[in-house]
Amino acid sequence: MAIKRLLDKSAQPADLEEEISLRPRNFDEYVGQKRLKTNLQLAIAAAKKRREPLDHILLYGPAGLGKTTMATVIAAEMGVPMRTTSGPAIVRAADLASLITNLKAGDILFIDEIHRLNRAVEEILYSVMEDFKLDISLGKGAGAKSLRLDLPPFTLIAATTRTGSLSAPLRDRFGHIHRLEFYTVEEIAKIIRRSADILKTKITPEAAQTLAGRSRLTPRIANRLLRRVRDYSDIKADGLITETEAEAALEMLAIDNLGLDAADRLLLSLIIDNHGGGPVGLSTLAAMLGDESQTIEDYFEPFLLQIGLLERTPRGRCTTPKAKSHLTSLDGRQSA
Ligand code: ADP
Repeated sequence: MAIKRLLDKSAQPADLEEEISLRPRNFDEYVGQKRLKTNLQLAIAAAKKRREPLDHILLYGPAGLGKTTMATVIAAEMGVPMRTTSGPAIVRAADLASLITNLKAGDILFIDEIHRLNRAVEEILYSVMEDFKLDISLGKGAGAKSLRLDLPPFTLIAATTRTGSLSAPLRDRFGHIHRLEFYTVEEIAKIIRRSADILKTKITPEAAQTLAGRSRLTPRIANRLLRRVRDYSDIKADGLITETEAEAALEMLAIDNLGLDAADRLLLSLIIDNHGGGPVGLSTLAAMLGDESQTIEDYFEPFLLQIGLLERTPRGRCTTPKAKSHLTSLDGRQSA
């Protein structure tokens, strides 16, 4: 499904490479998220003044909003190295041990998708985060011994799309917990213009604005759409992206005027047509779409909730009147 592909971090190697080149390197280049930046700049200045590592930081919010990017910016602004891993990559306690015993005082460890850490590893992390002590057990059964290692004080930055899935003991061990917000269309247009500059692609301000309006208020989607439109314009036009190329490429991708793709529209119309607008339980919705509940929660819902097309109720998901009128307006246009 297109939106999932546009949002997925591991989607396409070429996208990933480009994403790294487009990634802001400092607070000045990092567009938007003003409140987050102000808070972190203060924390960084204070830590530097005291010559201490930063407190552990938890960043949460929907995919593609800039959590990983912010972690790299923090490391750069602190002037310290950062090691990157992710929840599912730390399978055993030994994986965690080998990562953190290599850290030096002040270093940053970034764990993406921390909600996917397994229980055993998570429990070891508690004393690591709180006391910089690593408890490891050697051997098995009656002869097992436990060992406590002192660690240098380092900073853990963790990212998650869902704080709800984190246990309270883990959440409580972060000194800073920050939510990343969806961007404004203006901010996304600015990101598109900046990315076009880096990619040496010419785009008119109007075309940047059009793409921004269809990027689900999400930088990763904005950058990937820009890439798709650039491909289109290189082949079908003379390389300059004007509104005509932007509109034509978006049409080819079946992305509508709100930034929804065919899968979003299918999700909304299934709720409206088969369930009278809801409520529909998440698992029923997943079965109807032939997708996993997690995919729906991570990739589809955040934006649909944000723009008021979907509502989450205790009994399930409901569409709003706005969703119905959006689909009706598209039907009208298609049959016109
Ligand atoms: P997340 O970790 O939240 O899924 P990323 O940090 O990987 O998101 O961001 C995806 C891409 O979007 C980055 O590679 C970067 O190019 C771009 N990006 C994210 N946040 C910003 C921002 N505030 N300003 C400019 N570009 C951004």
